[in-house]
Amino acid sequence: MNLHYKKERGSVILNKKEWAGEYQTNNVFIAFKIKKKIFEKQSKYQKITIYDSIELGRIFFLDDVVMLTEKDEFMYHEMLVHPTMGQLDSPKKVLIIGGGDGGTLREALKYPIEKATLVEIDKDVIEASKKYLPFTGKSFMDKRANIIVGDGAKFVAETDEKFDAVFVDSADPVGDCAVLFSEKFIGDIHKILNKGGIVVAQSESPFYDFVVVKDYLKFMKKYFTHSLTYLGFVPTYPSGMWSYVMARDMEIGIPKEKVKGLKYFNPVIFQAAQALPNWMCNTLYPI
Ligand code: SAM
Repeated sequence: MNLHYKKERGSVILNKKEWAGEYQTNNVFIAFKIKKKIFEKQSKYQKITIYDSIELGRIFFLDDVVMLTEKDEFMYHEMLVHPTMGQLDSPKKVLIIGGGDGGTLREALKYPIEKATLVEIDKDVIEASKKYLPFTGKSFMDKRANIIVGDGAKFVAETDEKFDAVFVDSADPVGDCAVLFSEKFIGDIHKILNKGGIVVAQSESPFYDFVVVKDYLKFMKKYFTHSLTYLGFVPTYPSGMWSYVMARDMEIGIPKEKVKGLKYFNPVIFQAAQALPNWMCNTLYPI
């Protein structure tokens, strides 16, 4: 069999000049061979680092955690956005919490919406994405993009605007992101959705962080009549098995493929993505 790469053998002593990576747990480390570091800055909130890598294009880290790679980010952003946008009838206004790289914004703007409001706490992430991650950052130039620098939880609690969809594109539930995994945050989102509106959030790796998946679904069930967890592949996220949780106050339907040229999402894959392994559904669905 002609593999696309020659597998090295034996353990690798990582030379810091050649490799960059992330501790996915305290005992599991993923490493990427890099060409060069192209940006690094300690912002008010976190360390922002962007590399050019040999195999995966640009890689964007926050506090040494992978946020996206150029090669696989479409898998995450398409599965966060299109299962929702594909089942809403002519959505006009969407809200994105976090998502400072612009990938979720790019996918939402593929629909004929009037406005996409994005609330990102760290303006340095937006500026670095515009400059060094053009494949996602160019979405900030769209005239329908309404960019707010601030805390997403505060915005959701205080806004009197209503939205057809809310996308929670947070990082891991630590630091400033922790509040985006709280029950109150979901309750506040429930208040700002239009009738039939949908909220969807990334809910971490079921393989390593199943408690987050469980809690997020529990919070959704507390406020919405219908909710579900679905899966997607993101090769460079911890375990490569990723989860999303979706909720609305009406039956969750089968999305249509309203946008051409998508590389991951299609209506059938969303249905398949709801089929969960026994160890997940045995715990999640008695909730
Ligand atoms: N897709 C990535 C993932 O799943 O890890 C995360 C996307 S994005 C880079 C996450 C963003 O959330 C970061 O830019 C971070 O600055 C932002 N963020 C963290 N806490 C926030 C908060 N309370 N309000 C708004 N944005 C926040």
